[in-house]
Amino acid sequence: MPRPIRATIDVSALRHNLAIVRRSAPDARTYAVIKANAYGHGLLRAARAFDSSEGFAILEFDNAVRLRDAGIGKPVLLLEGFFDVQEMRTAAALGFACALHDAEQVAMLDELAAGQRLDLCIKLNTGMNRLGIPASGLSAVLEALQDHPHVGSLTLMTHFACADEERGVAEQWHRFCEATRGVALSCTAANSAAILRHPQTHGSWVRPGIMLYGASPFADVTAEALGLRPAMTLASEIIGVQALEAGDAVGYGASFVAPRPMRIGIVACGYADGYPRHAPSGTAVLVEGERTGIVGRVSMDMLCVDLTHLPAAGRGSTVILWGQGLPADEVAAAAGTISYELFCALANRVPVVERE
Ligand SMILES: *Cc1c(COP(=O)(O)O)cnc(C)c1O
Repeated sequence: MPRPIRATIDVSALRHNLAIVRRSAPDARTYAVIKANAYGHGLLRAARAFDSSEGFAILEFDNAVRLRDAGIGKPVLLLEGFFDVQEMRTAAALGFACALHDAEQVAMLDELAAGQRLDLCIKLNTGMNRLGIPASGLSAVLEALQDHPHVGSLTLMTHFACADEERGVAEQWHRFCEATRGVALSCTAANSAAILRHPQTHGSWVRPGIMLYGASPFADVTAEALGLRPAMTLASEIIGVQALEAGDAVGYGASFVAPRPMRIGIVACGYADGYPRHAPSGTAVLVEGERTGIVGRVSMDMLCVDLTHLPAAGRGSTVILWGQGLPADEVAAAAGTISYELFCALANRVPVVERE
């Protein structure tokens, strides 16, 4: 029998979550965000599940090419644009729209071959201060790009820093609207949090990521409350059991000491599988559907769970680390991170199975 860990991707959950995007932003088209191997869910699997979305947003050039190789002809937006002239030419040849975030990229457009045109999303920095041209520089960039022989369509773009938080989008959205007033171009701004909470920002194209995968963009609202379904379930099995006396320690660093006699299960899942090493004792897991907690440090290939109150559990019992019945958001919060990071960290060595 192979090592029992596996990630199950529920394709119907992916489709369901896209339907929630549709319902939340009925007047916008959707760039389903499938960067980072579709947040760990599998690039082409996700692209197929999201075949009713109008386009895809992605970051890695080679993966964008894989979409075309797989026969996917719909709009593809490269969220960080092109990094060199060769990529720019290939982007134009394959019809990838590119985020354009600095003046150097404008100058590079002259290197396109005769007749080549590139679709561009002009990314404005409206306050996140990551990528983007300053809002005050938009008119100069527009002047350079409108009627440019190598420019195809133009779209206005920005990205929100706090759409999921109390602070919201008001300041950034105000700057965006001020800077783009009177510019008759389509626009794209909303990530998952803005799709769900800030409908004024939906614009022509929305860019959902995390919600498609069934996790919540908000710290204070569960995915379930948003009607989302978890798409990834990470599961494994108990491969050993230990009986502890009071005072016995568990795992590296002997960081957990049994306060009383305990029965613990050893699970074939560790940080080399993508489970967060920083998850503290008590972080929830499901053993045969019953909630319990991990004990001791997560090691590379194993972690330990408390079975003291689960006498029927033992070698071969199914353990769910996150997903069906246990939100990744909850596990992530316990480990001081967000579900995005758990999904993206799913290791290559974990076999993935697909469920319709
Ligand atoms: C990743 C990303 C998104 C998706 O964000 P979520 O919070 O996962 O919905 C949208 N836009 C840009 C520019 C991104 O980089």
